[in-house]
Amino acid sequence: MSAAVLLRGGRVIDPSQGIDRVMDVAVRGGRIAALGEHLAAEPGAEVWDLAGKYVCPGLIDLHGHWYEGSAFGIDPLLCLNHGVTTAVDAGTAGFVNFAEFRRSRIETSPVRVLAFVNIAALGIPSNLTGELEDLRHARPAETAAVIQANLDVVLGVKVRQGTMVAGHGREVMQRTLAAARECRVPVMVHISRGAETTHILRQLRPGDIVTHCYQGRGDGLLEGGALLPEALAARHEGVLFDVGHGCGSFRWETARKAFEHFFLPDTISTDLHRYSVERWAIDLPTTMTKFLHLGMPLSDVIRKTTLEPARAMRRDHGLGTLRPGAPADVCVFDLEEGEFPLEDTHMKTETARRRIRPFRVLRAGEVIRPGSLSAPLRPLNGADREVLEFVERSAKEADG
Ligand SMILES: [Zn+2]
Repeated sequence: MSAAVLLRGGRVIDPSQGIDRVMDVAVRGGRIAALGEHLAAEPGAEVWDLAGKYVCPGLIDLHGHWYEGSAFGIDPLLCLNHGVTTAVDAGTAGFVNFAEFRRSRIETSPVRVLAFVNIAALGIPSNLTGELEDLRHARPAETAAVIQANLDVVLGVKVRQGTMVAGHGREVMQRTLAAARECRVPVMVHISRGAETTHILRQLRPGDIVTHCYQGRGDGLLEGGALLPEALAARHEGVLFDVGHGCGSFRWETARKAFEHFFLPDTISTDLHRYSVERWAIDLPTTMTKFLHLGMPLSDVIRKTTLEPARAMRRDHGLGTLRPGAPADVCVFDLEEGEFPLEDTHMKTETARRRIRPFRVLRAGEVIRPGSLSAPLRPLNGADREVLEFVERSAKEADG
């Protein structure tokens, strides 16, 4: 059983309870025991003096790739180095390999891993071909059956729309929604160049999620500097918009234009995978720092990486909160001042004046020092290097 810890005197930001003030948090038996001012330390408890530091619920990353049976997947253990205690897999596996993902990683990782199941049979095995170039891979009945059997860890159905569906976008969307309807779960739709974005937005239902909302590669939410009316209508209906930074999906210029139209993200996520982790330092605190730099208040940045993803997952009763009784998933961080260069996926660098830097993490009460965990990345092969070269070329092309 994990030790008792008293987190004393940090500024606690917990949007789930409307808290943003200096107070103490007591942790016992892997759960939040109490919140309050001047809490007494129980005998044997570790006491952390956190004056000048910030305390928030363990961060939730709504979009990453954690199934290592895919060329994209990396070990979710990495997340604990970043203050992330819940990592969501965005459809790296499909109905064929989900059981193996569950057995090998979801059930064994010290990080809480939840997942979307891809509508494509094998998820996204590699970047050599698009996963839905052949429509026979999209099987709603089998996908729904796997989701039904794994509802304790599965959140919904994932689909990537763009060149990887090779013109089958509308049929793929129908099959994705059919699987989701059958299980009453949301869909998460990736939009990239080649997606029929306006058509997709018209199909989505309240609670469905659009990821890569600030991608600047074409077929995004903006056209000629204006937001698509379909994007506003979808948001009005309750469709959610997620960042999914990745290696091609965050452009300063796109985000700024969207912000001019008050189109802020519902959730801030990394889209960490073997390729994005290679070229961009896009751990969640860095991605959050980019949104601070864009002018979002700190409490909103925390809300969009704790409460809002928990709601999007329909898990807000126990996750993304410091409510007494909830699992003791906690992130303690510093807000450092200085000059911090931050690059978007189009090789444009801006310099932030503040950054979020994790100081201590609790995962179900276990104490973790950020940066102390080793999660080696698999070595890159020739095919991987081609992917990375392609990513850099496309970034430059989109800029030209
Ligand atoms: Zn992704």
